[in-house]
Amino acid sequence: NLSYKEDIKATRQSLPCFRSRTELLTMVRENQVSIIVGETGSGKTTQLPQYLYEDGFTTNGKLIGVTQPRRVAAMSVAKRVAQEMGVKIKEEVGYSIRFEDYSSPQTRIKFMTDGILLREVLLDNDLDKYSCIIIDEAHERTLNTDVMLGILRTLLQRRKDLRLIITSATLNAAKFSKFFGNAPQFTIPGRTFPVEINYSKYPVADYVEEAMKKAVNIHLTTSIESGDILIFMTGQEDVEATTESIEEKLLEVYRKKGEASTFHDVNNIEIFPIYSALAPELQSRIFHKLDKTKRKIVVATNIAETSLTIDGIRYVIDCGYSKLKVYNPRIGLDSLAITPISLANANQRSGRAGRTAPGVAYRLYTEEASETDMYSSTIPEIQRTDLSNTVLLLKSLGVENVMKFPFIDTPPIQTLLNSFYELWSVGAIDNFGELTKLGTDMSKLPLQPSLSKILLNSITFGCSTEILIIVAMLSIPQIFKRPKEREKESDKARSRFFIPQSDHLTLLNVYLQWKSNNFSTQWCSNHFIQGKSLEKAEDIRKQLLRVMEKQNFTLKSAGSNWDIIRECICTGFSHQAAKLSGLKRYVHLRTGMHTKLHPTSALFGMGDLPSYIIYNELLMTSTEYLVCVTAVDPFWLMESGLLLYDIKKQEETNDYSIG
Ligand code: ADP
Ligand code: MG
Repeated sequence: NLSYKEDIKATRQSLPCFRSRTELLTMVRENQVSIIVGETGSGKTTQLPQYLYEDGFTTNGKLIGVTQPRRVAAMSVAKRVAQEMGVKIKEEVGYSIRFEDYSSPQTRIKFMTDGILLREVLLDNDLDKYSCIIIDEAHERTLNTDVMLGILRTLLQRRKDLRLIITSATLNAAKFSKFFGNAPQFTIPGRTFPVEINYSKYPVADYVEEAMKKAVNIHLTTSIESGDILIFMTGQEDVEATTESIEEKLLEVYRKKGEASTFHDVNNIEIFPIYSALAPELQSRIFHKLDKTKRKIVVATNIAETSLTIDGIRYVIDCGYSKLKVYNPRIGLDSLAITPISLANANQRSGRAGRTAPGVAYRLYTEEASETDMYSSTIPEIQRTDLSNTVLLLKSLGVENVMKFPFIDTPPIQTLLNSFYELWSVGAIDNFGELTKLGTDMSKLPLQPSLSKILLNSITFGCSTEILIIVAMLSIPQIFKRPKEREKESDKARSRFFIPQSDHLTLLNVYLQWKSNNFSTQWCSNHFIQGKSLEKAEDIRKQLLRVMEKQNFTLKSAGSNWDIIRECICTGFSHQAAKLSGLKRYVHLRTGMHTKLHPTSALFGMGDLPSYIIYNELLMTSTEYLVCVTAVDPFWLMESGLLLYDIKKQEETNDYSIG
């Protein structure tokens, strides 16, 4: 135990941050706002909070709050810091992410997503329980971080004792300094090693396959001691596909040599996927040190770009893309799009190979493409996503004129106007742009405006028990499994749950059947369902139930009248309504954009597709797909005045008729 403690101490002292400990603490003592810049892995996230703690920043009973743009990062670094301090999570060190609070009155260092801190400002405008706030990974410029910085600028004038630290992994921190009245900047001296960059000679047709080939080639042609491999992909699907195809290929190679019959026999390698929806116990495995005879391959989303540092990486393979939430002004909505990364991201990714020794990076795109297709840095989220929730939040905080709020970078005026429109069309703000009672109630729920609205409306519709389940089910990723080579079988299993009019009701059906099978895990695997996801949904359902009960809402079931559930869902999604036009094609009502039903939709089971639908999400690939769809009655849509106008407009050009 003693040597373990010594080990931790030595590791902590070896980090670049440590040499600047005194300077950092002096800067924070002497300045209300400090900007700290340091290479990924220098110890900003795990060490700074501990330095402040050791230096007495919490002796007055207050907390050190550290925000992270990503849930996985908040959870993972909290666990690490707890381990270094020799405490259990929820004791001195805790974390809080949406629907998961692992903090207690004992907690002094609290990691959380930036979204959680925004919620806390709603409840306590002065953030009184904190002595110090660290806005970590500010270079990511997430929407929530940007909004938080704007709020903090005013808040700091009321709380002269509060300390704010902004950290960034890129040198581009002058902007933050300027925003906070020329706050001092400190750059942690660090050493990085050269990384050899290799571009692809030709455009890559399939980056999953290409990444697999590169990884397998590195593994077979270099010595294990030369280092581990980190592969950047865009999301869960291609992370899993890459992991599987590397396993397959290696198995094939070792089988030919007669050295293995299953992948388990290949004992010189371990492959770890990591993405946000991965179960927490699997996430922390990426940090485990393997013995010297084994090589580690980590296949990650951009979570491993700057948020998490995995030691020992010497080879990086970068697919050149990431999944970005982008606002589509044509439809006035966000969609997730696979987009080329920026040059700044590309450099961060390559840099991961040179943290402890010289490394090699393989970019799966041509040098020319990097010059023509990539921006120098990513456009801040605030300039490319839907701002309805942000506007709702700022309104609830009493910001009179949202247009005049101090944004580090101003969002496009059209996006702000669209957000006002959306909030007005769901009834959250009135004709004067002021919050309505519904709007106030909505802002108290940790959900998107549309979901908050259907949950609140379900009280009047008398179907709150069911809507609560649907909302919880919509809050989790991937319910159905579709394992390779068992696609047909799993598709068939999925179709048994279909409720023809609605994917939302299909989700409800899955939940209810799971419940009537006593929430059994075995039942889940028998039906190709992610048991862990359902457990998460059940957890979220219970938490939302508590929020509802706190506000004295009584829940009621719709019984067998499932039409009322569809009508209720329609009230929150009338701005995401579409009309059938030709085979499987739908035209978005407000804008006339053409889209297609996603092949996984339950609606395909209906002989004729319904004339009107609302959808939960738009997926942009080469085709624009509607995901999670429900058939609706046009009369329900017409309840909202402007949609009546839209339908009339359609009527003039189309063959629309009622009844
Ligand atoms: P920064 O925030 O400056 O990028 P971190 O504080 O995240 O740096 O990382 C400092 C060191 O702590 C790195 O060497 C990293 O590998 C290690 N580390 C961080 N999280 C974990 C963890 N969960 N398990 C093991 N090591 C970790
Ligand atoms: Mg960090």
